[in-house]
This record gives sequence, structure tokens and C-alpha cells, in this order.
Amino acid sequence: MRQRGKLEYGGHAAPQRTCVGCRVRTAKSELLRLVQVEDQVVPDLRGRLSGRGASLHPSVSCLELAERRRAFPRAFRVQGPLDVSRVRAHLEGEPRNVM
Ligand SMILES: [Zn+2]
Repeated sequence: MRQRGKLEYGGHAAPQRTCVGCRVRTAKSELLRLVQVEDQVVPDLRGRLSGRGASLHPSVSCLELAERRRAFPRAFRVQGPLDVSRVRAHLEGEPRNVM
């Protein structure tokens, strides 16, 4: 099933998204939003980047599952491989460069 981009929950239920790694549906607020910038996947830490998003549990194991499944090219509808090193660095606890 493909996710819808718009809210469809009226307001009573918390919006949920499916993790692109383990495919478990989880409250959107507990997932890390990822966006594609050129040939990279980057974490959208403040929810400000536009474009098609993908959701991932903030864990390296889900990132690795997503890579193994080639979930990112599918989620972002691109052909080639995508570089997830910035997502990995974020999940591994690199100091954040948030201004
Ligand atoms: Zn997951």
C-alpha cells in the first residue's frame, strides 16, 4: 500500500505512517521524516523540507532494513541508488548541526 500524503484521520486519531524499514505502522510523531535531496536521503529534523517524504523509525536497524529492501528509491520514485550516509550519521549520534 502506498501512503497518502494528506491527513485522512479527521483529528481524533493520531496520524500514523509506515516505517520504510520494518513496515510497522507507528505514530507519525515517533518516526523520523526523511526527504530526498538530489541523490541523497536526508533527515528532515524540523519538518520543513518539502517534497516527497519517507518515514523511518529512528534506528540504524530500520535504516539497514530499508536499504536492503531498496525502499528509498521506491519511496522517492527514483531509479538510481540513494546515499543514506547523512541519515546513518544522524542515527549513529553525530553531533547535530541544527542552527
Ligand atoms: Zn522501523
